[in-house]
Amino acid sequence: MSLTSDIKDFALDLGYSGAGITSAAGFPDYAAELRKRNEMYRFYTESTLRPLDWTEPQKMMPSARSIIAVVLDCAREAVPEKFAGKIGRIYLARAYITPRARINGMRRQMMKEFLEKNGMEVTVARSVPERQAAARAGIATYGKNTFVYFDGMGSFGLVTTFVVNAELEYDSPTMTVNCPPNCTACIDACPTGALYEPLRMDPRRCIAYNCFTTIDGNPGGVTSYIPPDIREKMGSWIHGCDVCQTACPRNQKRLKMKLPPGAYLERKAHEFDLVRVLNMTDEYYRQSIQPLTYNYITEKKYLQRNAAIALGNTCDSAFIPDLSRAMSDPAPLVRGYAAWALGRIGGKAAKQTLEDSLGRETEESVRREIKSALAGT
Ligand code: SF4
Ligand code: SF4
Repeated sequence: MSLTSDIKDFALDLGYSGAGITSAAGFPDYAAELRKRNEMYRFYTESTLRPLDWTEPQKMMPSARSIIAVVLDCAREAVPEKFAGKIGRIYLARAYITPRARINGMRRQMMKEFLEKNGMEVTVARSVPERQAAARAGIATYGKNTFVYFDGMGSFGLVTTFVVNAELEYDSPTMTVNCPPNCTACIDACPTGALYEPLRMDPRRCIAYNCFTTIDGNPGGVTSYIPPDIREKMGSWIHGCDVCQTACPRNQKRLKMKLPPGAYLERKAHEFDLVRVLNMTDEYYRQSIQPLTYNYITEKKYLQRNAAIALGNTCDSAFIPDLSRAMSDPAPLVRGYAAWALGRIGGKAAKQTLEDSLGRETEESVRREIKSALAGT
């Protein structure tokens, strides 16, 4: 047994569904693309993750020789009906940027410790271009929707990379786009036009980005503001979006598979009721909601904003009392988006609530939202 096969065995034993190895050479094409589309990606390139620097792993870790790419299958449990169309599968798998104390964080830690015990210097680098690394390590192929696809998993996998100083045996790259030649189902299905051509996505229009990257203070001049035309297209998504993956023929086999129900998700599903999320307390957020959203959203007001948008998009007047209650939320952000939602639902009762709120509202950003909502009712 070689060290390379020991590493792969250990990864599979830990529950990863695939492992491949590539060299620590740079990713110049990816770097060039990030630079070319800098305006779209400033929120990322200007972040402390330093993704452009990590396109040259040896710049960040001079001893780097190999990148180990492992993939975790994120579609092992059935998605409870109450979650469908609200939260992306990858987040339901609780695998994304997981705290160490949780199972997927622990798995990553155990992998790192195993590599270290075998004499390696290791960096678990979140900013290595993970999808490219996975394709170069032979465990994934590209899809035109910008996701990568794994054997037997479709695109519902999460890649983690470990940069190590050992010279390992490299796998043959699989850097091909394995889509049917004329297929554009993902581009056609994308509600916002974020996927604007094969293999190209403008994150600023992506629902997933708007759910959790639009947070005040994020790099690249990002704020919590979501343009109204995107709000309307967000539908019921409050954390992520799976539309371009569920439309994909390469995912159909996986999507049609009868998956076992997961007790944790079943338990959580009713807690993610949109009305409960909209008007949740700090305690409810901490105990019930945050364990599934710690990945990106760290303040409850952003999820409340997303819930307000989703309720507005139902266009159902039954939610007017809940949105009216949100017009008294201490966070101006929540009041502003509740106002937008009331305007989207429209009708006499919504209009009355908006007028009453305008009479007592002092925050300029909320007043703007109320006036704009009233103009549409
Ligand atoms: S995740 Fe949703 S919004 Fe983003 S590119 Fe895919 S379909 Fe479009
Ligand atoms: S929908 Fe079609 S074009 Fe898009 S990723 Fe899937 S197979 Fe490729």
